[in-house]
Amino acid sequence: MAPPEGYLLVVDDFELNRDMLTRRLTTRGFSVDGAENGRTALKMVEEGDYDIMLLDIMMPDLDGFEVLEAVREKFSSTDLAVIMVTAKDQSDDIVRALELGADDYVTKPIDFPVALARIRNQLKRRQTEFALRESEERYALAAKGANDGLWDWDLRSNRVYYSDRWKNMLGYEPDELENTIDVWFSRVHPDDKIRIEQEVEKHFSGKTSTFSVEYRMRMKDGSFRWLLSRGRAVEDGSQQPCRMVGWQTDSTDRVEHDSLTSLPGRGLFLDRISWALARCRRGRFDKFAVFYLGIDRFKVINESGGYVKGNQVLIQLARRVEGLLRPEDTLARLGGDEFTLLVEGIEGVGSATQIADRILDSVRMPFVIDNQDIHITVSIGVSMGDQDEREPEEILSMAQQALTSAKNSGKDCYEFFEEGMGEDMRTVLQKENYLRKAQENNELYLLYQPQIDTATGKIIGAEALLRWKSEQLGQVYPDKFIPLAEETGLIVPIGEWVLETACAQNKRWQDEGLPPIRVGVNISSRQFRHGNLPAVVERILRESSLDPAWLDLELTESMLIESLQQTVQELKRFHELGIHISLDDFGTGYSSLSYLKTLPIDTLKIDQSFVRDITTDPDDAAICNAIISMAHSLGVEVIAEGVETREHQQYLKELNCDQMQGYYFARPIPAEEFAELLRQNKVYD
Ligand code: C2E
Ligand code: MG
Ligand code: MG
Repeated sequence: MAPPEGYLLVVDDFELNRDMLTRRLTTRGFSVDGAENGRTALKMVEEGDYDIMLLDIMMPDLDGFEVLEAVREKFSSTDLAVIMVTAKDQSDDIVRALELGADDYVTKPIDFPVALARIRNQLKRRQTEFALRESEERYALAAKGANDGLWDWDLRSNRVYYSDRWKNMLGYEPDELENTIDVWFSRVHPDDKIRIEQEVEKHFSGKTSTFSVEYRMRMKDGSFRWLLSRGRAVEDGSQQPCRMVGWQTDSTDRVEHDSLTSLPGRGLFLDRISWALARCRRGRFDKFAVFYLGIDRFKVINESGGYVKGNQVLIQLARRVEGLLRPEDTLARLGGDEFTLLVEGIEGVGSATQIADRILDSVRMPFVIDNQDIHITVSIGVSMGDQDEREPEEILSMAQQALTSAKNSGKDCYEFFEEGMGEDMRTVLQKENYLRKAQENNELYLLYQPQIDTATGKIIGAEALLRWKSEQLGQVYPDKFIPLAEETGLIVPIGEWVLETACAQNKRWQDEGLPPIRVGVNISSRQFRHGNLPAVVERILRESSLDPAWLDLELTESMLIESLQQTVQELKRFHELGIHISLDDFGTGYSSLSYLKTLPIDTLKIDQSFVRDITTDPDDAAICNAIISMAHSLGVEVIAEGVETREHQQYLKELNCDQMQGYYFARPIPAEEFAELLRQNKVYD
């Protein structure tokens, strides 16, 4: 058997989190141990030989910071890498962790591919460091001087010795080119000749101890490259200069750079794309990716903080993104707030996604300028290149179009280039206009999906799901317009309409004498934060005269955690009114049951992504099992979404899942159809 890819220690007081990570990492070939608190972790680190520690911050007794401090007293980061697990948007925590000597961090909810990439990164870093430690000297020697071309000019004969490397830098073999000074001067770019003469003169007149000059020189293939030459005169016995000796380095990459960030500029970047294309054609690798980054609302930073601050942000951003890259990747600044990145030898969209995610993540950490935290986000457009006959400019422009599209779909995200993207901007604006009119044009309507009680097979609830039948766009599904509604704020009036309609509908069913059920309404985070929700809900309940016990608000974990204090207050208020509270999409977010103790939540909805593979993927089965038993121990009910097959239903029944919802029972249906099911007293077995 192959040795493990690395030895990891996962430290988290919460068993479910520990379990999930351990399982997934073990499958990937790591050896993983778990520790349920800081003290155990410190002891295990002392005794075991771990490569990386994944360390949760929020733990009772010793918290993550304290553990980190204790670890760093004994172990350098070459000995033991520490990756902190922090709550999203807790930038203070992240900064503090990095200051205390953490090597990297991942945020909760843990995006597994990102975590995996970071773990592998740390392993790689440590390997290099070990290798370095062993042969530091050899390494240093090898790195130095290898790229310099040497020359030695006899001033009396005007013959020059050029080293093989010197000729090589110009594209020649050692036996080509005459050993004369003419070879040199005839190749210097006409605009740079004067500068060389001036420098040499200054040196001979004793004004400089060495001379140093940068100039363009013609290569064998006719192109020009920047060279930096340094040297000094050597005197003979009578203190007369008789020779000049020195060396030269190719400085093209440094010279054609942006002066602010010293990153390559546009020309060089396009050059790199053509190299990448050429190497793809030669089969060195299959694909490469071009990322086009734009800072969101950079104008605001410049306007509020001045250009100095804006420039600081640009410099720090460049350094931060560089820190994520391999030496062979190219980061460039094309001007303004626009950066581009070329990554060669990429496997596909998946790996490009990971890179984009890492950039987004790392930029979200605050930039500290003049002791002040500045928060920024970037949007990223991505285009993929392969051996196709495309021009470098075209590939760059595709990435730029994707960037525009990413900015339009809400910023702080990435998008890949798709055909026809150039038109997207107009389409989005148009869609927004249509959506604004959708409400008054009666284009919105609700469907209701039955929720089934596992024990009795009876319908006990209905989730109201929004639909839009647009005159211009046809049928539009929620994932295609809810994000837009949220971004534009339209979700607030639309969400209010959904609440009104669902409550009124439920009351009507009851008035018709149908068995009473709960109606579930999805609430978006924007409504929760800005919509004065408690007052709105109270008004709607009053106007519809629906008993609050028959209303169920579906919230998501991320919106609750955003402002826990306010949340607790509001949820308590809803609860006092008798309203039912559900936590939607559970398992995709923070998945921390710990706050369930503090929040008055009645039902957990297990996300359909876990239910889908419950009968085939042991991980998902284990997660569902864990969620259900823990929820029950806290007195919280569980409903599974996305129940599509009889196997799903049977399995969930065995796990004691209280309720179910999914296509196996019924799809979301119009109100009349739903009433018919209630009338029949439908029982699902
Ligand atoms: P959600 O709240 O998690 O809703 C469940 C989604 O799963 C619904 O998609 C439903 O049609 C779908 N679904 C139900 N059973 C199955 C099944 O067995 N298999 C599969 N594959 N899917 C199933 P829908 O209606 O497209 O809604 C998507 C999301 O849009 C909802 O996710 C919710 O987050 C949001 N949404 C829908 N209506 C509203 C609304 O009125 N207000 C807000 N804020 N969001 C809404
Ligand atoms: Mg829902
Ligand atoms: Mg859901």
